Amino acid sequence: MKAFDRENSAWARFSQEERLDMEEYSKKYRQFLDTARTERLANKEIIRQAQAAGFKPLGEYTSLAAGDKVYWDQKGKSVILAVIGTDPIEQGLKIVGSHIDCPRLDLKAMPVVEKNKIVYFKTHYYGGLKKYQWVCLPLSLVGVVYTADGRKIDVSIGENPADPVFYINDILPHLGKDQAEKKLGEAIEGEMLMPLVGSYSEEEKTKPAILNILKNKYGIEEEDFASAELEIIPAVKSRDVGLDRSMIMSHGHDDRVCSYGNLAAILTAAPGAKTQAALFADKEEIGSVGNTGVHSSYFPDFVSELLALQGQTEELYLRRTMRNSEVLSADVCAALDPVFDSCYEPDNSAKLGYGICLCKYTGARGKSGSNDANAEFLSKIRQIFNQHDVPWQTGELGKVDQGGGGTIAYIMADWGCDVVDCGVAMLSMHAPLEIVAKADAYSGYLAYKAFFESK
Ligand SMILES: [Zn+2]
Repeated sequence: MKAFDRENSAWARFSQEERLDMEEYSKKYRQFLDTARTERLANKEIIRQAQAAGFKPLGEYTSLAAGDKVYWDQKGKSVILAVIGTDPIEQGLKIVGSHIDCPRLDLKAMPVVEKNKIVYFKTHYYGGLKKYQWVCLPLSLVGVVYTADGRKIDVSIGENPADPVFYINDILPHLGKDQAEKKLGEAIEGEMLMPLVGSYSEEEKTKPAILNILKNKYGIEEEDFASAELEIIPAVKSRDVGLDRSMIMSHGHDDRVCSYGNLAAILTAAPGAKTQAALFADKEEIGSVGNTGVHSSYFPDFVSELLALQGQTEELYLRRTMRNSEVLSADVCAALDPVFDSCYEPDNSAKLGYGICLCKYTGARGKSGSNDANAEFLSKIRQIFNQHDVPWQTGELGKVDQGGGGTIAYIMADWGCDVVDCGVAMLSMHAPLEIVAKADAYSGYLAYKAFFESK
């Protein structure tokens, strides 16, 4: 196969057998999408699959040998899986770093409000989303609540077809004159993103009736929302798209399409000389902050713990390991959308269905905030993909000065690792429901596996 080809799609380049493998992979990916609906549920599903494949918590090891499979659970919202290599760890890791958080609406600490006998949830949006896209959709409420005595309640309302859903209103077109004159980004404001929660009550007010339901049916008191993480996401599961079923629509492709590829790759890659590490981070969408985001110390802490199990406890070994490590920053990039072609530079945009995308730099206004990968490392990755028939392409996030974005690449590069952005190109990124091509999702898996297995 011609691994780099701007004329023929990856699907056209796949053999009949590879196309069947791609379909099989897509089925499993859709199951992952429909199960791993939030970062907490993704964390749980990744650990479940890892345990089934023989991974054990790092704390259970007193020494490490080649082939050992280790995992680290960072507060239930981020995970690291590692397969120990035959080389000493200080010679560097092969890291694929993806993220499992997605743009969504989070409930506020005091979310239940009433206006004219209609009860709503107040939300604060999470990540870079277009607010107008979140109205008039069926919505689910998923997450955790801790009660006054510290009991954990898992909440999932709207995910089961028999459940009620939530819904955010928009103004009818007949009365939308003022709204239609506003800029698109101002037509729906953040504080308007209030899902409907209830409208009936025998009493003067509706809110007490809703609080009663929350208490009797779910065991939740109003004050409990202060110790909760509850997310509003589309109550829509993944679907095949197109008469040829070549694409998948789902909430959260960014970045579960790379996260699932990362997971499938580390579970199936042959153990190598280098230790392989799959990182599934939280908080990427809001700047990788907090103690489950990549700016936190947990990844180097994990590496320090691995080194300690090989008898190397000084910090120098950690620094050496990170400096010797190679990273694929596995996050999505924008595929050229012919409907909005004026936003892209066609010769340097990724194309839907043309394979995994190597993105030398991201950033905005003159590459600012970007990792800007080294040519030497790009050369190495290119050779791996070409040798292993991984369909790949290059990409850039839109035309110069149209906008921009970032990933975890620059944070990993702060440690001195070699890093390049390498993810799936997609359409409608950060919309409630996003689109990827099956051929690209599958190419991502092939790319991460070939990288893990490389020297
Ligand atoms: Zn992302």
